[in-house]
Amino acid sequence: MELTALLEKMKLEHLAAQLDTVCEQAAGRDLDFKAFLAQALETEYRGRFQRGTEARIKQARFPWLKTLEQFDFEFQPSLDRKLVRELAGLSFVERAHNVVLLGPPGVGKTHLAIALAMKAVEAGYSVLFLTLEQLMTRLTRARHENRLERTLQQLVYPKLLILDELGYLPLSREEASLFFRLLARRYERASLIVTSNKSFLDWGEIFQDHVLATAILDRLLHHATTLNIKGESYRLKEKRRAGLLGQAPQPQPEEATTAN
Ligand code: ADP
Ligand code: MG
Repeated sequence: MELTALLEKMKLEHLAAQLDTVCEQAAGRDLDFKAFLAQALETEYRGRFQRGTEARIKQARFPWLKTLEQFDFEFQPSLDRKLVRELAGLSFVERAHNVVLLGPPGVGKTHLAIALAMKAVEAGYSVLFLTLEQLMTRLTRARHENRLERTLQQLVYPKLLILDELGYLPLSREEASLFFRLLARRYERASLIVTSNKSFLDWGEIFQDHVLATAILDRLLHHATTLNIKGESYRLKEKRRAGLLGQAPQPQPEEATTAN
């Protein structure tokens, strides 16, 4: 059989597309047969992995794309840079641990959540991004349409689930109990990144039930790293620079806790 036909039949499309380059490089570097074969297969593997990454980014439904490299740590001195770098190593995803990002609006919670999730996507993990509002719409609709079980299963599947903006809207009792069911399902199976503008003390108000809030915090925080960002809004930075606003508040001392 001819080489191009073989490549096509075996669906080695990335190798097929780069065949001439791979062969030229092999000749140039005087590779032996095994090294050439490894080079050729690696070309195919890399192509597939890259395509997988693109597919996982789409599946994640990020509202926008941001990376850790784009995050200005100088601007946010209260944030423990070393801890963020450690999280970017993704052992929390491997161990199904959680990350909680707390802080006022504009300090980069969503940016950091997306940036960490991008690392996970690049490492081959499945990721899903939902605002709390999207999550609640999905769960309550599923319950009313009698397919809650299936929806919960779908939401356990992503190895990393981001739940963004917990605390902007209070949840009804039904919503809070749905939230708890999701958390209990994912507990010790898959990771969550939760962002919130409310401190843990105020979570009772969000869920309008202190017993449920305690149960939720218990599951969420048992294996979790909490980053408490205390700086000012990045969105206001430019305005402040232009002198449209007053002086920036002094940065607070570092605060980060890890519970395992
Ligand atoms: P939050 O979720 O805490 O309200 P965002 O993550 O949405 O804040 O940040 C608001 C905007 O400012 C985004 O466009 C984000 O990329 C940017 N941003 C926030 N903090 C930083 C930072 N330290 N360095 C670079 N960009 C930042
Ligand atoms: Mg946000």
